[in-house]
Amino acid sequence: MYFELLTKDIRLREGLKACMNCGVCTGVCPSAEFYDYDPRQIVCIVQSRDDEQIEQLLKSDRLWYCGECMSCRPRCPRGNTPGYIIQALRTLSQQLGFFTESEKGRQQLAIKRVIGHHILEKGYCITPRLVAPAMHPEQGPVWDWAVGNDTDFWTKFSPNYRGAGAGALREIDSDAIAEINRIFEVTGGKDFFDTIEAASDRKARQMGFDGADESYVNHTYTFNSGNHGA
Ligand code: SF4
Ligand code: SF4
Repeated sequence: MYFELLTKDIRLREGLKACMNCGVCTGVCPSAEFYDYDPRQIVCIVQSRDDEQIEQLLKSDRLWYCGECMSCRPRCPRGNTPGYIIQALRTLSQQLGFFTESEKGRQQLAIKRVIGHHILEKGYCITPRLVAPAMHPEQGPVWDWAVGNDTDFWTKFSPNYRGAGAGALREIDSDAIAEINRIFEVTGGKDFFDTIEAASDRKARQMGFDGADESYVNHTYTFNSGNHGA
């Protein structure tokens, strides 16, 4: 069943020819160095078409360790792309609500609420002003300065920064934003977002929160079981 669902995704069809389990993808994978993670095993499980094992994978932390760098793509001697297979698995995990069963998977809600919201509201995944220094201490004190002086700073790279008309990091006009929203509606993007919200809300209540509120989102981003290392 799960394999058939996965084959509806072009990334699975493009990414999985026939794996011979050589392990080259794992050897070049940067995530495998730091996490309990092995793309060879993931490809092997998908190729086996074993529903039980695929379901475990869809509910596991392993699915969310891939950095999507695609270093595995040019290296596979069989022309597979484990990174694409993992992308297809992630989408299925989200569609089925299974992502809420893993610590790393639950973080998908925050990505939907931040990146998803920015796309629909601003027309960008992210812009400098959307990376608030208080929420991103990893950016260091330089970032605080860069955001505070963003117009002076980014106009050196993009003269039309936050301006009307053409150019990188321009303000996206309201007609274009409305069109982006219509595209999300017509293509099922908004339903997909709703699915992530609904599954997260169910899980949050199971975990003792009052639904998928801010405290739940903060929990998903601050709690670390410490069970992720290689
Ligand atoms: S490199 Fe290709 S053939 Fe080798 S284990 Fe990875 S996916 Fe399979
Ligand atoms: S795309 Fe994912 S699986 Fe492939 S090398 Fe990068 S991190 Fe590893």
